[in-house]
Amino acid sequence: MYLHGTSRINEQGNLEIGGCDTVELVKQFGTPLYIYDESLIESKCRQFQDAFKETGLRYQVAYASKAFACIEQYRLIDREGLCLDVVSGGELYTAIQAGFPAERIHFHGNNKTAEEIEMALDAKIGCFVVDNFYELALLQELAEERDVMVDILLRVTPGVEAHTHEYVMTGQEDSKFGFDIQSKQANTAIEISLQSPNLTLLGIHSHIGSQIFEPVGFVHAISILMTFLNEVRKELNFTARILNVGGGFGIRYTEEDEPISIFEQIDSISSIIRRECKEKKYPLPEIWIEPGRSIVGEAGTTLYTIGATKNIPSIRKYVSVDGGMTDNIRPALYGSKYEAMIANHVESKETEVVSIAGKCCETGDMLIWDCELPLVQKGDILAVSCTGAYGYSMANNYNRLRRPAVVFVKNGEARVVVQRESYEDLIRNDVVYVENSSIK
Ligand SMILES: *Cc1c(COP(=O)(O)O)cnc(C)c1O
Repeated sequence: MYLHGTSRINEQGNLEIGGCDTVELVKQFGTPLYIYDESLIESKCRQFQDAFKETGLRYQVAYASKAFACIEQYRLIDREGLCLDVVSGGELYTAIQAGFPAERIHFHGNNKTAEEIEMALDAKIGCFVVDNFYELALLQELAEERDVMVDILLRVTPGVEAHTHEYVMTGQEDSKFGFDIQSKQANTAIEISLQSPNLTLLGIHSHIGSQIFEPVGFVHAISILMTFLNEVRKELNFTARILNVGGGFGIRYTEEDEPISIFEQIDSISSIIRRECKEKKYPLPEIWIEPGRSIVGEAGTTLYTIGATKNIPSIRKYVSVDGGMTDNIRPALYGSKYEAMIANHVESKETEVVSIAGKCCETGDMLIWDCELPLVQKGDILAVSCTGAYGYSMANNYNRLRRPAVVFVKNGEARVVVQRESYEDLIRNDVVYVENSSIK
């Protein structure tokens, strides 16, 4: 297993993160447990900002908080000076409770409800990324009622979809998100925005995918976006002040993944924007990006206790842990791959290949297939790395499992930032109807 950030093997032969022995963390907090290497999150925030400073462009980095959201995470992001993307009333509520400055919050999503929009207007958030005609009309109406002006970006779909090493041109993009450029929906949306008295159109937004390693997808998307903006400038006399190119920067889940550095990604984005603007004599817009996974993914490690094993001779050995698709649904949902180690004896001469199963009543509840580990014993602590993004944020209570605690570690100190759910939490919203005793 690759050791990210401050992860290392200590003198006891145990996995240590943020100066804390994970075996001790398990004694203190139990399993399953999400551990976050706080310094690594901070370092990623700084790398994106430093990379932009080198380009000399005006920029804004917003953390796409759907990757991992809780009050302490929002406070960390605030301290690092990033902006914050939210996609629901729940994320917005958490951000407000965290005291995150509203003017640095951006609101995304393809079906924001009137209630959510009102909540965001009341909080006076910085910007709405408007996704569709319905929202454009609704936002104008609600802003007018309040007699306020609202800054917006329009989400457009450039017809480029990027994942890992490949990107595809999809022509007229078949996506639930955004205004399509090719069919000119995007032009109409700009026209309507400019005519909406309570909306101020700052620019456009696009997000082309996730876990992207090669900047070529971004490069292609940006050239389409700049061509579109240039056309719109001539047709509608609108010049974008902001170009938001979304998130999706890839991380290293397993040894097969070789992401290029944050600096290289930002450098490529910056070069193509400068080139396009120069060619088209277009004033350089401010560049916004929205990394989620690349801020928190590598910083997260999940710790489990190993219980049952099942050996099917000459077929496979299943090793079960006390969590699974409830705390990490990505393997079941996307076939995502992870690496693991035994945290309480990392190094070993003798190894075996096993498959890690979750404890849910689903055959598909497998965390890792064919994983090489030291000989496994019951009670061992399994550490799965790189679970910081879309782990806790997608966690659920299937089989009425309790969501694990989340612990931040840094400089030898550990602090719980989300408590483990209790059994009482599980029945909190259950309504019990007591039979009327007089009828009995
Ligand atoms: C999910 C999402 C992101 C973040 O994607 P990552 O792969 O986590 O970096 C950014 N912007 C938008 C609009 C998104 O939907």
